[in-house]
Amino acid sequence: MKVIMLGAPGAGKGTQAKRLAQEFSIPHISTGDIFRANIKGGTELGKKAQGYMDAGQLVPDELVCDLVVDRIAQEDARNGYVLDGFPRTIPQAEALEAALKKKGENVDYAVNIDVPDEAIVDRMSGRRACTNCGATYHIVYNAPKIADVCDVCGNKLIIRDDDKPETVLNRLSVYHKQTQPLIDYYEERGLVVNVDGTKDMDAVFAEILEKIGK
Ligand code: AMP
Repeated sequence: MKVIMLGAPGAGKGTQAKRLAQEFSIPHISTGDIFRANIKGGTELGKKAQGYMDAGQLVPDELVCDLVVDRIAQEDARNGYVLDGFPRTIPQAEALEAALKKKGENVDYAVNIDVPDEAIVDRMSGRRACTNCGATYHIVYNAPKIADVCDVCGNKLIIRDDDKPETVLNRLSVYHKQTQPLIDYYEERGLVVNVDGTKDMDAVFAEILEKIGK
């Protein structure tokens, strides 16, 4: 099964994407995680992406599309995958569609997690991330067992630069301009599954499973 996660930054795409991937035993592919790993590793790609990410802008399509097309061609993705954070622009969606078409494949669902902007700003200000293993938390809605310490690996938690308030507002505006049009794009293809992302994480997950018929 091939699933795309749509929704504003902070809508809960990452959390739901990981759970879906686990449920269906398919890889969770997050372009944000791939970029962060490249930044941490000091790669050329990381160096190119960092300025855009810290400013809350999208990394240019040409740095993203090939990377994803290569990733989904890997062996572990043969039974499908959950794409989290890609596509984020119409050209990216077209690149994905073209790559899949060559193999006679298609996306099965575009899960759109709907959360109003005010709730997003409230959520993002409480977000904490582990720089070591990538786990994410929220100080109110998904708190780590010990404040500011990762449950998974014990590393210290931080506020990502791109979760800082001025960056969040910028990311929301980028989302509305560049990513929201994807809802119509996938609507036209009959693939959109809308879920109410303001509910708690378990309820959102249950709604996704129900709507994709599991
Ligand atoms: P995320 O963790 O998905 O919220 O992504 C964090 C940041 O990585 C975004 O704000 C962008 O700067 C960059 N990024 C991730 N995925 C993409 C994408 N598909 N296209 C462009 N930029 C991306």
